[in-house]
Amino acid sequence: AKEKGRNQYYFFESCISAKVLEKYQLEEDLRQALDHQEFVLCYQPQIDIMTGKIVGVEALIRWIHPTKGCISPAHFIPLAEETGLIVPIGEWVIRTACQQSAEWRKKGFRDVRISVNLSAKQFQQPDLVEMITKIIEETDMNPGLLDLEITESLAMMDIELTKEILGKLKKMNINISLDDFGTGYSSLNYLKQLPINTVKIDKTFVDNITVDKGQQTIAKAVIDLSHNMALQVIAEGVETWDQYSFLKYQQCDKVQGYLFSKPLSLEEIENILKEDEGF
Ligand code: C2E
Ligand code: CA
Ligand code: CA
Ligand code: CA
Repeated sequence: AKEKGRNQYYFFESCISAKVLEKYQLEEDLRQALDHQEFVLCYQPQIDIMTGKIVGVEALIRWIHPTKGCISPAHFIPLAEETGLIVPIGEWVIRTACQQSAEWRKKGFRDVRISVNLSAKQFQQPDLVEMITKIIEETDMNPGLLDLEITESLAMMDIELTKEILGKLKKMNINISLDDFGTGYSSLNYLKQLPINTVKIDKTFVDNITVDKGQQTIAKAVIDLSHNMALQVIAEGVETWDQYSFLKYQQCDKVQGYLFSKPLSLEEIENILKEDEGF
């Protein structure tokens, strides 16, 4: 019995080490990915619901791994957060987005806002505001076109710190969006306290918006309350015309989702922005 127990133990152990190795390998690769220029940004259009025009894009990171191919951020962002690598990676994302924005302006494209996701780890860096200020100066981008998306759960971690940092960013004319709204524990009450501009209704909410009366009531309440507080509302993960119609009827301001476009490569988004501009 003892022998069997041992074997089981070793079997279990080898499973874990295989898993650990895989993660360890991924971590090693992730450490080199920045130097090896394996990251790219793609851009998903955000559409003004009244005019149907693209008014913004969300920058979403992709990792083109040399052997594994494209790895989803859902897979490596948690690892990047755990290891702290999200700090330099996140800085690369902000710099690249700001450079892109400045370049679009030089090329004569109509102004669109560019949204960048911020992770909790980045938010906890004491030099975050300084870093962003520096990047804006260096790239010479219009900070009025920068939008930072912070998740609801991040914002609620330390309300006082969040208020302080967001206050500074807002003074710089940067737009702040509360991402994944409806998935965390924040009450609508907190919305009033935070210096934010936009509430981003999470996809999980949008998914059931046409079938679930309860979700409809909540979505309507979120939109109305946000508007009462002079906040804009964007819905993410919009996939059907039914969802779009409902959101339009409720006077949601902007939509983002596969119904309009998946995240696009730089070349693709530039072509669309050009068309939109009437080039
Ligand atoms: P998120 O910020 O909630 O971004 C929206 C995600 O939903 C994106 O997935 C986007 O491709 C996807 N999406 C948009 N519209 C639809 C739709 O209509 N249907 C469906 N099924 N999905 C839709 P993606 O690009 O895989 O990113 C996943 C998450 O990874 C993001 O969720 C964000 O939390 C994180 N992420 C992506 N890029 C960055 C980054 O540069 N920095 C940080 N910290 N996190 C990032
Ligand atoms: Ca986001
Ligand atoms: Ca989101
Ligand atoms: Ca989401």
